[in-house]
Amino acid sequence: MQKNHCPLCHTDKFNYYKAGDDYLLAKCSECGMVWDNNPPVNPTAIYQEDYYNNDFPKGGYSNYFQGMKINSQTFRKRLLKAETKLSGQGLLLDVGCALGDCLEQAKDLGWDNPQGLEVSKYAVKFAKNRGLSVYQGDLFNHNFEPNSFDLIMLQDMIEHTTDPIAQLTGAYQLLKPGGWIFITTPNLGGFWHKLLGSLWYHYKPAEHLTYFSLDTIKLALEKSGFSDVESKPTNNSMSVEYIFDRLKYYQPTLFSFLLRIARTLNFHKLVFSLWIGELEAWGKKK
Ligand SMILES: [Zn+2]
Repeated sequence: MQKNHCPLCHTDKFNYYKAGDDYLLAKCSECGMVWDNNPPVNPTAIYQEDYYNNDFPKGGYSNYFQGMKINSQTFRKRLLKAETKLSGQGLLLDVGCALGDCLEQAKDLGWDNPQGLEVSKYAVKFAKNRGLSVYQGDLFNHNFEPNSFDLIMLQDMIEHTTDPIAQLTGAYQLLKPGGWIFITTPNLGGFWHKLLGSLWYHYKPAEHLTYFSLDTIKLALEKSGFSDVESKPTNNSMSVEYIFDRLKYYQPTLFSFLLRIARTLNFHKLVFSLWIGELEAWGKKK
């Protein structure tokens, strides 16, 4: 199904650009939004067990389970930032919560009964087995009441969808007045994209369907009704092991070798805070 209108400003004025072999993306001539105008018919079909554990690190998660502990540090930092925004804790909904790592951190920090929403049947089952409150569904299919949540998090989620305004409007309705949305997503305007061009690791055909810059994520939030909107580059905590594992995509032999050395010399668990080309954005429900 062709999507020949900008998902943000709805104009039909756009140009194609090549984001890889056989990967054409549309870029809006008016607002700069970038999207895949020929997305899969059922975009969520791919998020099953092999998505969370595979040997092709550009798509899905490679060694997700090993990376878990490291992701947890990132989630913890984000939740602490949210506590500053909210002046405390509140009822949290993590949309696209995957296996529930962020919810685990929230519980650990003392957040009361954090909730998750996730399309993957496999991930929901996994998270429930960890004792987390996670429901299978998305922002259009769920049983939550409007005006329920103090904080809604969409972490590396919105780029997997085709209609960001509809997603954000759905989140807006679920927030209490005064509640906050927090988003992370790849930053199309960032340094790594400028450097790597079509080799940029966030270009994921059939998986990432919309691509944002600091400006377009702001526009999307404003068009969805949010106030106090801000966007800025963000960093992630990562281990040596995770970094080498990701770089295997570019240089399999070299980085498999370095990974083996790191494990042998036991520095694979060392953690860095890295700017990997993501952005974070905040918005408040009036
Ligand atoms: Zn546009």
